[in-house]
Amino acid sequence: MDLLTSDASLVQFGATSFFAQAVNYFLFVGVVFLLVWKLLAKALAGRRIPTRFDFGLPQVKREVLNTLLTLLLGTVSAVAIVALYRAGLTKLSSGEDWPWWQSGLALVGLLVFNDTWFYWWHRLLHHPKLFKHVHAVHHRSVDVNPFTSYSFHAAEGFILGAWSIPMALLVPMSLQVLMAAQVVGLLNNIVSHLGYELLPRWWLRAPLLKWSSSATYHSLHHSQFNGNYGLFFRFWDRLMGTELKDYERVFRAESGGAEAPREGTALTEPRPL
Ligand SMILES: [Zn+2]
Ligand SMILES: [Zn+2]
Repeated sequence: MDLLTSDASLVQFGATSFFAQAVNYFLFVGVVFLLVWKLLAKALAGRRIPTRFDFGLPQVKREVLNTLLTLLLGTVSAVAIVALYRAGLTKLSSGEDWPWWQSGLALVGLLVFNDTWFYWWHRLLHHPKLFKHVHAVHHRSVDVNPFTSYSFHAAEGFILGAWSIPMALLVPMSLQVLMAAQVVGLLNNIVSHLGYELLPRWWLRAPLLKWSSSATYHSLHHSQFNGNYGLFFRFWDRLMGTELKDYERVFRAESGGAEAPREGTALTEPRPL
């Protein structure tokens, strides 16, 4: 519980947390980018998700600046949780006495809650009045790459991280599980914006796995705008009828299958922002 109870002021905690997150994020994303987009690009050519707008250096520069703002506003959520903990208002514990299965169940619960939070905020941010002011920042990247993962408007950067505040306030929760959910969220975001489909084709036949989102799933959201709003899972899109109907066909094509031709996939001209 050092993180929560140390003598550091909230400003010191926030500054340290932001710096650590930024260094870790750019190191990790940089390594993934080099590996997938440079070193293995030829070997993975068949798994590149095609798009009509190839990204360039100006896009990456814009994404890096947006990411710094997103991380800064994401730090506000972390500082808020520490402040609430010190005021005795959260239900956070160290979770050291939690058996592994309890931590596992809690992690799944957090991912489902985060997915729900994201889906509905995402739908709201696609409302025309909000879209052009906030979410359009993320959608300026039509051809995604790992640097797109946290390229958001500052306000969205806060919204995306704020799901953890009601959880810390209302649900008895282990700090370790909460942090694990943040790590899973980061990895999921990078995979969603990889620009390459690395999952095997049988993924969509696997009973549980098929309900997860994928790089193809989210790339279709960037190219078509009006569907596939989910973060980790496909549940909400299926339930609300917002899953893009070509998803499974395009996934089979991008994951190395021969069932659907790679030419003429569902990637269409994006609507003007
Ligand atoms: Zn969107
Ligand atoms: Zn995205």
